[in-house]
Amino acid sequence: MEHVLELNQVSYSYHTKEGETLALSQISFSLKKGEFIAIVGPSGCGKSTLLSLISGLLTPESGTIRINGKPLKESAANIGYMLQKDHLFEWRTIYHNVILGLEIQHMMNIHTIQRANELLELYGLGHFKSSRPSELSGGMRQRAALVRTLVLEPELLLLDEPFSALDYQTRLAVGDDIGQIIRKEQKTAILVTHDLSEAISLGDRVIILSDRPATIAQTLPLTFHLKEDTPLERRNTPEFKQYFNLIWKELNHHGKAIQTASLTD
Ligand code: ADP
Repeated sequence: MEHVLELNQVSYSYHTKEGETLALSQISFSLKKGEFIAIVGPSGCGKSTLLSLISGLLTPESGTIRINGKPLKESAANIGYMLQKDHLFEWRTIYHNVILGLEIQHMMNIHTIQRANELLELYGLGHFKSSRPSELSGGMRQRAALVRTLVLEPELLLLDEPFSALDYQTRLAVGDDIGQIIRKEQKTAILVTHDLSEAISLGDRVIILSDRPATIAQTLPLTFHLKEDTPLERRNTPEFKQYFNLIWKELNHHGKAIQTASLTD
């Protein structure tokens, strides 16, 4: 099966007046269609740099990145983002926020508008189409931000600490909610987080990065024996704790400045 994303021996350094900082070294991994991977690592190890390389904002110093078998530069693949801030505009209604990407990319047509309306209904935002972002809860706003991304039919979704601005209780509920939507839509996704619990509750695999320069310390496939495999159900399993301890140990072995959320924070 062809991979949606393939990184082969990717390295990247920042060059400043003070000198050269090697941020990433020899990173290789790939993602199949519909896979959801979580990337964890110590603060400042190179997680955001990795996402910037995958989104084409930065170019690797060495190594290759391929999307659907094509070099990133030649690929017209649509990449979607979900960030810490929802970036919804208060001067637009929820509906007009959701179709903003379609407008900018000149993709407004009967089918895409119908899809936007369907997604709004499907994910409980039908009644809020005319509302302003400030009238919605943090969780609903994140849903609206995700719907805005999904209407563009991204082949790959990049999630950069998307829940870290929310309080702990909301973060659990929204993480569960957004995780299930992404699964339902069968999206291929990469979640970057410093929250180990989030990574374990959402991913098919966890890639653990070492301290800077980031290398892959370990790749951990996640298997849960659950009738209904949801992020919240995962949190109550014995496997969850085992995975947490495993990743924690690996991070402590490879990194020093770890800022991770504990199991109970
Ligand atoms: P993370 O997302 O894991 O916290 P980053 O990818 O933001 O880490 O940064 C990795 C390292 O690269 C940082 O420790 C920092 O020293 C360096 N770095 C990041 N951005 C720049 C930049 N614009 N110029 C120089 N160095 C940078």
